[in-house]
Amino acid sequence: MSKSETEKWKKINKSREERPEIQEYKNWKELPPIPISLPIKASIGITGDWRTFRPVILEGCNKCGICWLYCPEGIISKKEDGSFEIDYIYCKGCGICARECPTNNIKMIRESEAEDD
Ligand code: SF4
Ligand code: SF4
Repeated sequence: MSKSETEKWKKINKSREERPEIQEYKNWKELPPIPISLPIKASIGITGDWRTFRPVILEGCNKCGICWLYCPEGIISKKEDGSFEIDYIYCKGCGICARECPTNNIKMIRESEAEDD
């Protein structure tokens, strides 16, 4: 797909029929704004207590934000210093962040091996 076609399709968002089957983006910065449903702030929305593995961000993190982008729960947030933190009350331990981290700086550890709760 040429650059002009890519630009064209990025702007079209009217109906299913008008959308291409595949949209190409060079990187996540080209993505249009997307809606994220955040967890429900009540006991029914708490998914952290059935987690088996916990993602831990390691010191080599380069603050790229890819984990924030991919987390399906929207519970990775950016801190003032540019680093990212995970809300373990709502993290369900799916491991997508660890899978997508380009520098392999998210380690999945067993909950039973975590130092705190
Ligand atoms: S393990 Fe899943 S839910 Fe938890 S922070 Fe990573 S992507 Fe989000
Ligand atoms: S994806 Fe990996 S390197 Fe990027 S901010 Fe998250 S933990 Fe850090």
